[in-house]
Amino acid sequence: MKPKVFVSRRIPDRGLEKVLEFCDAEVWEDELPPSREVLIEKTRDCEGLLSLLTDKIDGEFLDQCPKLRVVANYAVGFDNINVDDCTARGVAVGNTPGVLTDTTADFAFTLLMSAARRVVEGMDYVRAGRWKTWGPMLLLGRDIYGATLGLLGLGRIGSAMAERAKGFNMRVLYYDPYRREDLEKELNLEYVDLDTLFEQADFLSVHVPLTPETNGMVNAARFKQMKKTAILVNSARGPIVNTNDLYEALRDGEIAYAGVDVTDPEPIQTDHPILKLSNFVVCPHIASASIETRGRMAEIAADNLIAGLKGEALPAPVNKGVIAKRK
Ligand code: NAP
Repeated sequence: MKPKVFVSRRIPDRGLEKVLEFCDAEVWEDELPPSREVLIEKTRDCEGLLSLLTDKIDGEFLDQCPKLRVVANYAVGFDNINVDDCTARGVAVGNTPGVLTDTTADFAFTLLMSAARRVVEGMDYVRAGRWKTWGPMLLLGRDIYGATLGLLGLGRIGSAMAERAKGFNMRVLYYDPYRREDLEKELNLEYVDLDTLFEQADFLSVHVPLTPETNGMVNAARFKQMKKTAILVNSARGPIVNTNDLYEALRDGEIAYAGVDVTDPEPIQTDHPILKLSNFVVCPHIASASIETRGRMAEIAADNLIAGLKGEALPAPVNKGVIAKRK
């Protein structure tokens, strides 16, 4: 008999076909995620769950799904999962690292360039019928080449940003608890403390995971440290940046611009005043959303799920060494 699993949203066929072949799977077809109650109801008798970042997985959830042995998250970030609670119950957790690194860094750079060169404002200007002639002072932006990029977090995506910055001849500073002297040479990076990072960056790009320590770490005090001409880019997780502090910093000219793919909350309320600011560019959490990458993510998530169900080590484990123990 095939193991029972719940797939909490339709994912690309490249992964879904594998899941359907190996498992007795129910797939949630709605555009919106299942509520917590529905997620529990659907997973109660399942051995595996293919989850999304909108699904909160914690001890209370796991205790109501006693057969669950593996949670395969369709994302590299896993802040929606209480990993300790999973480990304590012998539930293996997997994520999708690596395959989305370049796609996400491409998008972070897209946000950086859109903000620096005011691309969305330009489009709005044309659409509004305001384009009458070539203007010497029209929509002046900021140069990217030669500017200083500050990377908050130098993991996979932060490093991929540094590679891109090299092509723009940028000076690149980074802060990460783990100093990467190997990469410093290869990518021409300078390791600095947090204060220096915020003070010197022309572009400050966030690439840390969401943890209790990083929650709200980009806040009013940090905006005050930044250059008034600085541009913030956040393609990591919304709550790392305090939304209201960002709104005030943009409104009051503490910093010049922000380009974000993630917000807190998500989605951002449509009546939030930050959406009225012209120096704010926002996208609906699509940094990894290329056809190829979402297909690769689906495949890894499926491989994690199936390995966990077989009692094997997950190809991309979060709690390495936890081989699904539940029977
Ligand atoms: P990663 O390889 O784990 O890199 C994260 C880096 O941040 C690590 O080097 C980590 O250092 C460092 N870090 C942790 N806490 C820090 C702190 N307090 N201050 C400074 N650095 C800190 O992860 P990744 O693959 O690059 O992905 C990064 C994040 O991007 C993910 O967690 C996810 O939330 C987000 N993401 C978003 C999208 C999107 O669609 N917008 C797509 C992909 C990823 P240590 O290893 O020493 O802890």
